[in-house]
Amino acid sequence: MTVQSDVVERIVRRVLEMSGPPVIAAPAEGDGIFKSMDAAVEAADIAQRAYLGRSMQERANYVAAIRSVMLDEENLTSLSRMTVEETGMGNCEHKVIKNTLAATKTPGVEDLTTEAMSGDNGLTLVEYSPFGVIGAITPTTNPTETIICNSIGMLAAGNAVVFSPHPRAKNVSIQLIRLINRALAKEGAPANLVVTIESPSLESTQAMMNHPKVRMLVATGGPAIVKTVLSSGKKAIGAGAGNPPVVVDESADIEKAAKDIVDGCSFDNNLPCIAEKEVIAVDSAADYLIFNMKKHGAFELTDAETIERLKELVLNPNNSPKTEFVGKSAAYILDRLGIHAPKDVRVIIMEAAKGHPFVMEELMMPILPIVRASDVDAAIQIAIEVEKGNRHTAIMHSRNVDKLTKMGKLIQTTIFVKNGPSYAGIAVGGEGYTTFTIAGPTGEGLTSAKSFARRRKCVLVGAMDIR
Ligand code: NAD
Repeated sequence: MTVQSDVVERIVRRVLEMSGPPVIAAPAEGDGIFKSMDAAVEAADIAQRAYLGRSMQERANYVAAIRSVMLDEENLTSLSRMTVEETGMGNCEHKVIKNTLAATKTPGVEDLTTEAMSGDNGLTLVEYSPFGVIGAITPTTNPTETIICNSIGMLAAGNAVVFSPHPRAKNVSIQLIRLINRALAKEGAPANLVVTIESPSLESTQAMMNHPKVRMLVATGGPAIVKTVLSSGKKAIGAGAGNPPVVVDESADIEKAAKDIVDGCSFDNNLPCIAEKEVIAVDSAADYLIFNMKKHGAFELTDAETIERLKELVLNPNNSPKTEFVGKSAAYILDRLGIHAPKDVRVIIMEAAKGHPFVMEELMMPILPIVRASDVDAAIQIAIEVEKGNRHTAIMHSRNVDKLTKMGKLIQTTIFVKNGPSYAGIAVGGEGYTTFTIAGPTGEGLTSAKSFARRRKCVLVGAMDIR
């Protein structure tokens, strides 16, 4: 993965070597942490009004301070480890990569480009202005990454932000917000530009959404919270669930496709919303694809009874994933199934029919069903069906430009990765910037500072056209 600079590699080694008691800190007031949502929003509102008087250079300095909080070796190590301990999901090594990515590749103030129009009637500028106080709801799957990414984008655009973290990731979220506050204070920023509360809950999130001083809502999470913010009557950005299919046709470099798929699917134990969740392979390529996936750490289940037992183990009766298995490793899941696989197993694969719950549900665990299709057109059609209109992410391995184009046009996902692992779509080994708030439902797509800003027009009449 290209995001792994020497520094990241060293920290990853350090995280892996670490052992000992959990490092989870107890929440405490101060440093942007408030007892009530009302107090948090009021403080953020005062901070945001003070922030309006600061220069763009000062904003850039504050953004730099947020980046350096996460890039500090001690913080990167302990926050990555805390996240896995508190949520019981994912793996430290990949959290380090994701946190580094959020800190280094989220756009800052440079994202706010000005448009200018001049003519006989003078000069008009269109600029990006802050909303004010933003309420941001963050998930368990990327808690620290989303807080870093949202804080950078929202402060770059001149806002203050009140976070409502997932209750199951509250300690690590509070710890990060506290560290951000200390770094901003050192930089001379107004106090309380980034705040939260001691005990986040569904009720406090509701209070935040209803607070009249919260001008915009940004929800990163599953369908329920996206629907809730979109019904709030406020300007809202919804970054919701995905179920990314990966299509493989006969023209693909099958050996590379197999490796890319296992790499993408196993990243952070399949927690990322962009990660490969099911494969649709043309019949003529499927056997060789499976053969090569097994070379890269895929463990194949072929027995129908074992696949059924796995289903009963990891899914609830309504086919939703059981929380205790979300973000767990393939080795852990196999062990619970009574199968003692090699330690380096990364993904559990099996052939499945299109309607199987492993195909249709967003599992967020390294279980990857493979559906056979008669040809590439049929594979594309199946991919569209199983993506379920989320318009989130899709992946295709093919050398046929016409078919790549066809799938891109028809599936309409925010991210479409061709011939690479899914994480190339968030700038790990792919070009462009990153975001951990991918807003398919509301159309902002890969959010950045300008997504958190209002477009305003500034008109000077009869002057400043100097052509
Ligand atoms: P979740 O929906 O359980 O929780 C997300 C946030 O919403 C949490 O802060 C939670 O407390 C809050 N929330 C949920 N229901 C609520 C309600 N009724 N009232 C008030 N608050 C509520 O999601 P999760 O398990 O933390 O994260 C995984 C989900 O998020 C997956 O579906 C994944 O695809 C999605 N996700 C999407 C993106 C994206 O950028 N599109 C990024 C990360 C995760």
